[in-house]
Amino acid sequence: MFILDDNKDFKFNIEKNIKSFLLISTIVILIYTLLHYIYEDLNFYIPIFILSLIGIIGGYIYYKNTKNCIKTMIIFFISISVLTYLVFLIGGLGNLGFIWSIFLIEIAYFLLPIKYANRFVFFYTTLIVFSILLYLKGIINLPYEKSSLFTIVISIMITAYVANTIIKEILENLQNLAKLANFDTLTSVYNRRKIFQTLNDELYRAKRYKRPLSILMIDIDNFKKLNDNLGHQFGDKVLQDFAILLKNIVRKTDVIGRIGGEEFLVILPETTLEGAKNVAEKIRKSVEDYFKGYCTINITVSIGIAQVREPIYSIDSILYEADVAMYKAKNAGKNKVEIYKHENTGQSPQLKLS
Ligand code: GH3
Ligand code: MG
Ligand code: MG
Repeated sequence: MFILDDNKDFKFNIEKNIKSFLLISTIVILIYTLLHYIYEDLNFYIPIFILSLIGIIGGYIYYKNTKNCIKTMIIFFISISVLTYLVFLIGGLGNLGFIWSIFLIEIAYFLLPIKYANRFVFFYTTLIVFSILLYLKGIINLPYEKSSLFTIVISIMITAYVANTIIKEILENLQNLAKLANFDTLTSVYNRRKIFQTLNDELYRAKRYKRPLSILMIDIDNFKKLNDNLGHQFGDKVLQDFAILLKNIVRKTDVIGRIGGEEFLVILPETTLEGAKNVAEKIRKSVEDYFKGYCTINITVSIGIAQVREPIYSIDSILYEADVAMYKAKNAGKNKVEIYKHENTGQSPQLKLS
């Protein structure tokens, strides 16, 4: 599973599997210890195994207390990396210890964000190559045949390359999919689904922290006439230019979405009606100025404003109120900004938007 976040890197979401992952590692280490007990000398291994088990169990306790996934993974990763490197040095069961290094690289790409995995794998591979060079120079001793060293290094490098390529491909495809799922292809602002989802999140935040939140419902005036007279393609170009204009006017923290043909929604977090009115007026005026002389038809917008108010934080209510205000602006002659005025009943409007 992946965490989908618009601006950040995608990551494997290990949160769901963290407990099973820690449990599996513990079991693997315990079985490995048992096999050593049966087949080999345990002297070297006991302290290493105990240390790594302490690391893994410590990581588990840390996770239970803090729920900090990333730091838990760092603790876990340090524990198994040290163990794996030492097993590589000592040789492990049947001198096949280097195989665990290959698993370690796969696990790194599975658990860590790709850029950390890349750094880690570079560091780890360098360490292995460096150890092999020391061995060839006769400075340290490794339990491997000199003829098998090339195979060891190459298998580690191929694993790293394949894992890196696969993860990169997956991330790229997911990023493209997320773009398709969240953005309007014509104007590159959020699509209807994503802007409503964002509004939901923002309403929740406003309610929780008791912060102001306003929205603007914007509809381009006489758009049908524009399409009919100048063609659909011209209409599309107007929509694109309008979206760019909007992006340039609102703050970075404001969110723009296209909810219908020529209807846009702007979410203004931390903004009261007064602030929202300033932004709306600025948008109205900029559209009027920008499109002046653009074509034979005047291109203007009508804007409705609504603000959340306690105790109503429903998405339907605020959209309804902004819609009512927007139609008021249309009825007042278009190219206008209107604010939804509510009676202080504390009741949510009954009308529901589809
Ligand atoms: P009003 O001033 O009352 O808002 O009237 P209007 O003509 O703007 O509104 P109406 O809802 O009657 O028409 C909206 C038009 O928007 C109709 C439709 O052809 C056009 N439209 C919807 N989506 C697109 C699109 O993606 N591109 C283009 N070019 N036109 C679109
Ligand atoms: Mg319109
Ligand atoms: Mg419309």
